[in-house]
Amino acid sequence: MKTSKALVFDIKRFAVHDGAGIRTTVFFKGCPLRCKWCQNPEGLTINRRPLYFKSSCIHCRRCEQAAKKGQIVYKDDRPWFNLTFEDFDSVIKACPSGAIRYDSTWYDVDTLVDKIKEDMVFFRHGGGVTFSGGEPLMQKDFLVEILKRCQKEGIHTAMETTVYAPLDLVKRVMENLDQVYIDCKLFDSKLHKQSTGVENEQILKNIHWVLQSKHKDKVIIRTPLIPGYTATKDNLASIAEYISGIYPKVSYELLNYNPLAESKYELVEKEYPLGKQKMFTKEEMNHFYKVVQTHGIEHLIKG
Ligand code: SF4
Repeated sequence: MKTSKALVFDIKRFAVHDGAGIRTTVFFKGCPLRCKWCQNPEGLTINRRPLYFKSSCIHCRRCEQAAKKGQIVYKDDRPWFNLTFEDFDSVIKACPSGAIRYDSTWYDVDTLVDKIKEDMVFFRHGGGVTFSGGEPLMQKDFLVEILKRCQKEGIHTAMETTVYAPLDLVKRVMENLDQVYIDCKLFDSKLHKQSTGVENEQILKNIHWVLQSKHKDKVIIRTPLIPGYTATKDNLASIAEYISGIYPKVSYELLNYNPLAESKYELVEKEYPLGKQKMFTKEEMNHFYKVVQTHGIEHLIKG
């Protein structure tokens, strides 16, 4: 039975860092947070939008001719989109070189399950599907439906989330998940708001529930190490004390900074707010590991 659709901005096959074994990772559009270091800026908005690929453009200006009044401005030798328009079908169709494409695709549950099942052979040795984003919980009805379907098909299910959502929804989703990666970025709510646009009380409340529930061993809490933001002794010590205080055997992972996100910002016509930053060295990572271990973490996952 088809009941809902979801906007998906990428499907990554043969992923090895998004859960156990070889995985197919489905990236849902839309996120309620606006982290300054977002790794997937193309997944932030819940709407579908066109993207411009400079390297494919032959500068024929057919897009401009096909556009509705005010939909495109052609300047500096390229088209600029007015995103108050939603339907760019005729513009995309007019482009002869594929230099304009939508950033995402609508899927119904049947089609997406079929797509995931194409990789079944690779799931045999402990792999499965991981729902990521964006924030998968934003397309909640579809998510619950597809998780149920995947489990029925015998596919291991995982999700990457910030759990910035009502607790009732988190409880519903947990029933159909085999594994969940929860981001805990900043412990101080004021700093959390400054860096992500939202306060963190709901996130901490949901983490508290999940780490006391029957699902606690499915959970891996993660902190992305962002220079000048999350990668501070105070922040890591506070998170470590909080989560280990709820469940001493909690699995915790520190993710090294990934500088590759910067290149994606050009595509969505935004500037990368963090500027040039480097990954942390092995010595720096060891320092962070020591901080969280001395503040209660027994089960630390090292990258
Ligand atoms: S139609 Fe396509 S190739 Fe032609 S100018 Fe527009 S974006 Fe470039």
